[in-house]
Amino acid sequence: MNLILMGLPGAGKGTQAEKINETYHIPHISTGDMFRLAIKEGTELGKKAKEFMDQGELVPDDVTIGIVKERLSKDDCKNGFLLDGFPRTIAQAEALQSLLDELGTSIDYCLRVDVPEENLVERLTGRRICPTCGTTYHVNYNPPQQEGICDHDGSKLIQREDDQAETVKNRLEVNMKQAKPLLDFYDEKGYLVTINGDQEIDQVFKDIQSAIEK
Ligand SMILES: [Zn+2]
Repeated sequence: MNLILMGLPGAGKGTQAEKINETYHIPHISTGDMFRLAIKEGTELGKKAKEFMDQGELVPDDVTIGIVKERLSKDDCKNGFLLDGFPRTIAQAEALQSLLDELGTSIDYCLRVDVPEENLVERLTGRRICPTCGTTYHVNYNPPQQEGICDHDGSKLIQREDDQAETVKNRLEVNMKQAKPLLDFYDEKGYLVTINGDQEIDQVFKDIQSAIEK
């Protein structure tokens, strides 16, 4: 089963990716992990990517696609894969399409975990983190026993700059703009399935299962 997972920050994509990986035994391939692996293995493309990253530049599409190709050609992808964070552009989506043609396979579903924007803002701005041990909390969904204090070590919890309201709203806007053409692309091809992500984690996963086992 070849899947693409899409969702805005805070939509719970990571959690669902883990569940899909555990249940269907297909590797969860995030763009970051893929780059790290290519760099660690010292492949030609990995070296090229590192040059761009070291200079703080975006890795060009042809290098990225090459790395995706290397990754998807590995044995653990024989029964499928779950792509997360790729493709990011229409050019990448088209390149992925021809790459899969080459490999004699195709996408089965593009799963979009959908949560209304205002709920995402609440989810993201409510996050608190312990600067000492890194434990994350949420003021409403996963509060510490004592407000503002880490359960493990008594440190004062902080809100990351990334999680402050204005930053969160901007980040969501940028992500939505970026995702829109891709969602349209996969919708037109009939691969897009929208999952209601505004439910309990287990229910979201059940909905994913019924969608992909159809
Ligand atoms: Zn702590």
